[in-house]
Amino acid sequence: MINRRKFLEQTSLAGAITLIPGVLKSASSNSKDLLVTDKPVVISTWSHGLEANEAAIKVLNNGGSIVDAVEQGVWIPEADPENMSVGRGGLPDIEGVVTLDASIMGPDGNAGSVCFLEDIVHPISVARLVMDSTPHVMLSGKGAQDFAIENGFKKENLLTEKAKKAWEKEIKKRDYNPALNWENDPNYYHDTIGLIAIDANGDMAGACTTSGLGFKKRGRVGDSPIIGAGLFVDNEIGGATATGMGELVMKTLGSFLVVELMRNGKTPQQAVEEAVIRIVQKVPDHKSYQIGFIAMNKAGETGAYCLKPGFNYALYKDGKNKLVDSKSYYD
Ligand code: ASP
Repeated sequence: MINRRKFLEQTSLAGAITLIPGVLKSASSNSKDLLVTDKPVVISTWSHGLEANEAAIKVLNNGGSIVDAVEQGVWIPEADPENMSVGRGGLPDIEGVVTLDASIMGPDGNAGSVCFLEDIVHPISVARLVMDSTPHVMLSGKGAQDFAIENGFKKENLLTEKAKKAWEKEIKKRDYNPALNWENDPNYYHDTIGLIAIDANGDMAGACTTSGLGFKKRGRVGDSPIIGAGLFVDNEIGGATATGMGELVMKTLGSFLVVELMRNGKTPQQAVEEAVIRIVQKVPDHKSYQIGFIAMNKAGETGAYCLKPGFNYALYKDGKNKLVDSKSYYD
């Protein structure tokens, strides 16, 4: 009979995974121990992640694919007019126009994204269509919108009265400064939704969607649609996604960095902490901003870390969905 250690050694050597119903036994080269975690597991950014996780789990329970799950999970905040940082209801740019960024990655390593997209309520689904039906990874602006409309998406006004009022208040001040962003205003819902999920077979996918920095300069695109910055998934290793001031994540290619650190043996928690420390070391003005990373490895282990207190994330694990406060680099 094969004992646990032998099994681990053998599967480690082969870099293989063994599947049993509902459970993944993972022994990728970065796993020191054989990990047995109930699947699925879903992790996503901020409190809007709670509903997104539930929706993703529902898709999996109904037999949907892992890519369907991450896409439909983030549909919830995208469609929510009360959510001022994603999709409909998102805060506009400094000229009063809502522009959206989104990206998606599947277990086959394929990726799709859109940026600077206007008037389409589900940018994540346009990103998925780019991934599934074109040889490209990213479409932008008018081209992305034309592509969406050609494929049956409808144009809608995404600027709600609430977001318009916030913008009018902001332009009256006329002191645009992303460092003093609405991000820290408790009256507004927070930030990008990034979601990483693993299904019962151990397949992983991720989605990330946002209206970006509130009152941003016209034309500004953040980290969320940049594969490797706002989102990265490698089905052999794990996935990561980011929220907060995208420029800091773009300068350090944060999500790719987290996955590469996991590939090199770090746990998800160690990997996200190192990615935040990289920002601290490499971006001189980082103290003015917030950044948060979440990650999951192939075994369903998760991690989260941010620059300053205030970031939380939703974790669906062992059949329970809960909101968790992230640890931070600064107190
Ligand atoms: N990361 C997003 C961006 O920079 C915004 C956010 O998550 O707050 O566009």
